Amino acid sequence: MNLRPDEITSIIKQQIETYNIKTEINETGYITQVGDGIARIYGLDHCMYGELLEFSNGTMGIALNLEEDNVGCVLLGSESGIHEGDIVKRTHKQADVPVGEGLIGRVVNALGEPVDGKGSANATQTRPIEYEAPGVSGRKSVNVPLQTGIMSIDSMFPIGRGQRELIIGDRQTGKSSIALDTIINQKGKDVICVYVAIGQKSSSLAKLVSVLEQHGAMDYTIIVSATASEPAPLQYIAPYAGCAMAEYFMYNGRDTLIVYDDLSKHAVAYRAMSLLLRRPPGREAYPGDVFYLHSRLLERSARLSDELGGGSMTALPIIETLAGDVSAYIPTNVISITDGQIYLESELFFSGIRPAVNVGLSVSRVGGAAQTKAMKKVSGRLRLDLAQYRELEVFTQFSSELDKSTKEMLEQGVRIVQTLKQPLYNPIPMHHQVMIIFTVTNKYLTDIPVAKVKDFEEQLLNFIDSQYPQISETIETTKNFDDKTQEDLKTAIEEFKRQYNGTGD
Ligand code: ATP
Ligand code: MG
Repeated sequence: MNLRPDEITSIIKQQIETYNIKTEINETGYITQVGDGIARIYGLDHCMYGELLEFSNGTMGIALNLEEDNVGCVLLGSESGIHEGDIVKRTHKQADVPVGEGLIGRVVNALGEPVDGKGSANATQTRPIEYEAPGVSGRKSVNVPLQTGIMSIDSMFPIGRGQRELIIGDRQTGKSSIALDTIINQKGKDVICVYVAIGQKSSSLAKLVSVLEQHGAMDYTIIVSATASEPAPLQYIAPYAGCAMAEYFMYNGRDTLIVYDDLSKHAVAYRAMSLLLRRPPGREAYPGDVFYLHSRLLERSARLSDELGGGSMTALPIIETLAGDVSAYIPTNVISITDGQIYLESELFFSGIRPAVNVGLSVSRVGGAAQTKAMKKVSGRLRLDLAQYRELEVFTQFSSELDKSTKEMLEQGVRIVQTLKQPLYNPIPMHHQVMIIFTVTNKYLTDIPVAKVKDFEEQLLNFIDSQYPQISETIETTKNFDDKTQEDLKTAIEEFKRQYNGTGD
């Protein structure tokens, strides 16, 4: 046999050249203590704040306390199978969730895993749940309306795309219903909706999903659910996860609406977590950074500049108050972060005025610029009349003899209140709202009995839509309510009134 040394050396050389060692360095630590959904870990010296950590049974956790000799970590799953002494691995990344079109129509948990039993969601991309809010130059002003379909809100407290409007009120005052109606009203308006349920009962959520399905609203809605039975850390990350899902669409130039229902329970979950992590408690036992908890979330809502695609994220956070106390810690925080609030009052709700919007305490700080011209023209008087009525109402409770003008004002007020009542799941399009408000503020209802007001308005709209369809059309296409249309509407109302009275109703 012939040995050829040069051939052998070339082979060896080639092998040396292509030699490739793959080493993986994992920074690991040990669990020193585990319980109540919290693990303390020793040995993760370079762990980052908010980093995902992997436990030996596959459960993930988020590092939230970086202390001198240990890391405090909250578990994003069950504690069973995790013991003292187990090894914990760093992942070098922040928590993220799947995002994309595939999630639309689905109910997912805070980690983005479907919980509706319809199989896996087909999402190809992920986004970090915490993301920096767009800066000042990345935004443009809010000037496109986001119609809620609720007359008292669209007329007096209009919401613009990219705005953050708080819905605040005691328990059972119709807070969730307003958010739900707003989602239903986005049908056909090319707005992607995300509803984040935090700390609610599974049964309420199931009801909500079925309502949305019945109204065909699941076709453009994602539901993120962290119900009351889920661990506090999942309730804590749910709004950020939902925000990331909406953000994906916003940065792709789409308009989105996100509802956080509700942030009081979110703060409570965060408080529970913080106390277990042994962070020092502050006012009402909330940790010191509870303001940052909500401000960093709500700042991510924006109307992006054209360079960034012009998408928007409108946020409707919900806060539950106790006995109408808006000056408690969490309510004042969130009021100061948002661009206005819709204040719902139990007293109004129980007296049958639903939606129970308190006109004096509600405000929308940026939506005015987004309101359509048509609505602006008719709504100015409405708020004034209503405020005057409320004042007089209290004042005249004690006196029996009223002069004529006071009586008239009261009569008018009662009819406005009646007009603004609106049943559930019954959004009213903008042009109909304009016509109804025009009718009531121009005192066409003074001689209609209060109990008949709603019926009159309904029939009036039917009449106008069949006899004078051009009025609706002009308002809807021009978004304006010019003098000619006003005259046309007056003629139509007068004609209808003769006929309505004629039938003896
Ligand atoms: P919770 O504090 O439990 O979250 P909430 O403030 O979100 O309550 P909702 O659940 O929206 O209140 O509404 C409470 C009840 O009031 C529901 O049964 C709902 O059907 C009813 N309701 C709400 N709005 C209206 C309305 N406009 N007309 C008639 N009923 C309404
Ligand atoms: Mg609710």
